[in-house]
Amino acid sequence: MSIPESHTPARWWRVLDDGRIECDLCPRYCKLHEGQRGLCFVRKMEGGRMVLTTYGRSSGFCVDPIEKKPLNHFYPGSSVFSFGTAGCNLACKFCQNWDISKSRETDTMVDRAMPDEIAAAAEQSGCKSVAFTYNDPVIFAEYAMDVADACHTRGLKTVAVTAGYITEEPRREFFAKMDAANVDLKGFSDDFYVKLTGARLQPVLDTLTYLKRETDVWFEITTLLIPGQNDSDAEIEASSAWIMRELGPDVPLHFSAFHPDWKMRDVPPTPPATLTRARDIALKAGLHYVYTGNVHDTTGGTTFCPSCHAALIVRDWYRIDDYRLSEDGHCTQCGAAIAGRFGAFIHPFGNRRIPVSVHREQRT
Ligand code: SF4
Repeated sequence: MSIPESHTPARWWRVLDDGRIECDLCPRYCKLHEGQRGLCFVRKMEGGRMVLTTYGRSSGFCVDPIEKKPLNHFYPGSSVFSFGTAGCNLACKFCQNWDISKSRETDTMVDRAMPDEIAAAAEQSGCKSVAFTYNDPVIFAEYAMDVADACHTRGLKTVAVTAGYITEEPRREFFAKMDAANVDLKGFSDDFYVKLTGARLQPVLDTLTYLKRETDVWFEITTLLIPGQNDSDAEIEASSAWIMRELGPDVPLHFSAFHPDWKMRDVPPTPPATLTRARDIALKAGLHYVYTGNVHDTTGGTTFCPSCHAALIVRDWYRIDDYRLSEDGHCTQCGAAIAGRFGAFIHPFGNRRIPVSVHREQRT
């Protein structure tokens, strides 16, 4: 039995003169007739108002290493209770999670869980944090924010994995509930965004500068490098220079490898040499923490001290092989402060993925 949709009243919308409603949550500003859904599929006009059809619904829960989000400077080695729903407000032709994000059915919704049930399950699983991931939490912001409140009540941290495609007012409210984020910067040209994601670049840059200037949310950036699309020296130089200028050298940047998927199955996987080249360019631009992802690359996975260049957190993919930071996040060799959120490092969770059932119901 698949789980029925919810009809939870949603926020951030207004009535237009012609009787339609406009969703003001993301820069798409979908205008909807009665019964119509937005591009994200999960927000819908119903009975003259907007509802969120995925409140309390999930496509599944897993305990992951925090490095998988990826976050390399947010309590390294800890485990994170991860979940998502269905749908997305971008339309990336290269989507690497399309079975969830492009879901047009609720048959991917296999678990029903209210906010405190999720927080309780995360606590019982020994997780440090809960991540809204797999699909973009912006589109289920009301649910994610309630889960975040429940997590904070229990002393758990919250993590958003997002494309950052959100308008100003909900951006403030949403990130006020988040302790950390990984924001996708999918490319560094508006042309790339329009053609391959169906979105625009500027709102994403606005989210990044907002996080830096007006919040204390810890955030890292991920760029999926797609051969021939966003991997030129010029584009990587431009994005690295922008990050350096607008966000500073301490925001970690992850270059991750694309695999052929969804509507871009004719493009080859990203060669490891492309990731290394991109990392070299970003380091040369002055960024302190630049990583390669989705590949075995010990150098590209390691956190180096920006002051004395000692290898402080040695990683192979999501596994930590060596850890030389003090509890308060200082280099144990030269004493320099390392940007991020750190604590006692006891026993890393490791490269595992443990599915967890909160309230599992049978699929049809
Ligand atoms: S959140 Fe969904 S319904 Fe709202 S504007 Fe964005 S795509 Fe449209």
